Amino acid sequence: MRFIVETRDLTKVYRVGKVDVPALRGVNFQVKKGEFVAIMGPSGCGKSTLLHLLGGLLSPTSGDIIIDGINIASSGDRRRTEVRRKKIGFVFQRFNLFPTISAKDNIELARKIHGNHGADATTVDEILEMLGLKGKMDHKPLELSGGEQQRVALARAVINRPSLLLADEPTGNLDSVNSHIVMRMLRDLNLKYNQTIVVITHEPTTATYTHRIIEMLDGKIVPKHADFHVEHEGVFTL
Ligand code: ADP
Repeated sequence: MRFIVETRDLTKVYRVGKVDVPALRGVNFQVKKGEFVAIMGPSGCGKSTLLHLLGGLLSPTSGDIIIDGINIASSGDRRRTEVRRKKIGFVFQRFNLFPTISAKDNIELARKIHGNHGADATTVDEILEMLGLKGKMDHKPLELSGGEQQRVALARAVINRPSLLLADEPTGNLDSVNSHIVMRMLRDLNLKYNQTIVVITHEPTTATYTHRIIEMLDGKIVPKHADFHVEHEGVFTL
């Protein structure tokens, strides 16, 4: 079985002044190639920390993070940056587009940063068509609606065909109609390109677009009922 994401005993402790704030307390999970997974849980349970660690934007306190076969927890900064650039696409709640350049240039910039490994022209056209952006490419971000801006951000994130697409509350700034449009597009990208996606969300309706929900609480993954039963079986049968 090929995993795109695998974490082992992952911990992250933030140091705030003289106080340690444990954000992740031993996280173990895997995501298979082509899976579309939602991470849910109350505010402060560690979802963003986990996503930032998977994306190589933070280093863990301990444990392993294997992304498409490479352990980025034990790699140096340069290697981690290279993995991030070549293998990972990001979508954020606040879109994070460059405001002074057109939608087209925002996307082109991502292709150029990637060098020659990005999608070919046909795939670029296909992705823009799929995201309904064909007529919008000369607009600057502020001339677009929130839903359209998020679709540009989505195009930018997948234009280089990353192994893993990470989305941090991608519908958090959108109304319900646009939230459904963006989630449908994520699902279409997953289906058409077998794109592996991990999305953080608060909203149960958003999570219904995904294959699987990973629930977090207090810096850990909540075991599913079946796992819990197996884990504790020995105790009951003693
Ligand atoms: P979530 O995304 O589920 O809301 P976070 O990963 O943002 O959770 O936060 C998990 C815990 O780590 C919280 O207690 C939060 O206050 C703390 N935390 C997050 N980022 C930082 C930081 N940069 N410095 C200190 N503590 C942080």
